[in-house]
Amino acid sequence: DYWQDLLVVGLLTAIRLLMVGIGDSGFLQLGIGLAFVLGLMLIRAVLTQKTVWLDFGIQSVAILIFWVTFFALGVVNIVTVFQLVVQYICLLGTFYLALKLIYQDNELMVVLSRNASHDYLTGLLNQRMYEADFRQQLAVAKQKATPLSLIAFDIDYFKDINDHHGHDAGNQVLVEVATIIKQISRSYQSGSRLYRVGGEEFNLVLPNLDQKSAERVALRCCQMVSHSGIQYHGAKIPVTLSAGISDFTKGDTQIIDLYLRADRNLYLSKQRGRNRVTVNGTTMVADQ
Ligand code: GH3
Ligand code: MG
Ligand code: MG
Repeated sequence: DYWQDLLVVGLLTAIRLLMVGIGDSGFLQLGIGLAFVLGLMLIRAVLTQKTVWLDFGIQSVAILIFWVTFFALGVVNIVTVFQLVVQYICLLGTFYLALKLIYQDNELMVVLSRNASHDYLTGLLNQRMYEADFRQQLAVAKQKATPLSLIAFDIDYFKDINDHHGHDAGNQVLVEVATIIKQISRSYQSGSRLYRVGGEEFNLVLPNLDQKSAERVALRCCQMVSHSGIQYHGAKIPVTLSAGISDFTKGDTQIIDLYLRADRNLYLSKQRGRNRVTVNGTTMVADQ
């Protein structure tokens, strides 16, 4: 699409040159026109996150060759070339400032959209993204009849961790537990996605993974967390997780159908002693 811009500028310049006659001023206009297009290219390069400076450099060299050639051919004199270079620098300076503003706006947009979809503390996706993504995954599972599992995790006695070690320690536990679950789930299923859906609650969505495999993932996560030995200012904080699992079955129409089953199983894991994983009402101890 750069070429369309160039073509338009070329055409406009040709019309100008025909009307004004080919003289130094005509080439001046051409130079300004080309610099303008370069500016546009630069803006587009920034907006599409391309390597701006490479584009910028190549185009500057092209422009320079263009002018020097005309000077060498004796079409323009040295004064005109000097004028063109000054004009070019002034224009690019202006574009640079405009670009900086656009770029800052862009950065702000990136920060805002990240905050809207991610949890600040753990960097995980948030509840809103969980609902949107899981709904999409459920539609895929229904359409293609592929497996889809959900694991609901909840840290055990997290309130006590806060009470005994402080809120900061609690925060660190959240970050480390999130990291452990993410790492393990990725190693089982690269398409897995982890969401922070409550204070110390995490939902793990596992596309193309059946209940039996999800059970292995959940047990491994619970084991790793309980054996991790999370340290805070030299003190080892004992942490365990409980989990409830559900998977897509015929008749599930909404994501809440799966979530309620996973949550009921999670409740059973808590009730039956914590550090446990429950599937279809059957509870397994993580450390056995
Ligand atoms: P259970 O084993 O039954 O899950 O008990 P619990 O103590 O983990 O559950 P409860 O729901 O009673 O406590 C959750 C606590 O999580 C209460 C709240 O203060 C704390 N919490 C929520 N969000 C954060 C956070 O971002 N940072 C910290 N440090 N604590 C948080
Ligand atoms: Mg909870
Ligand atoms: Mg809890």
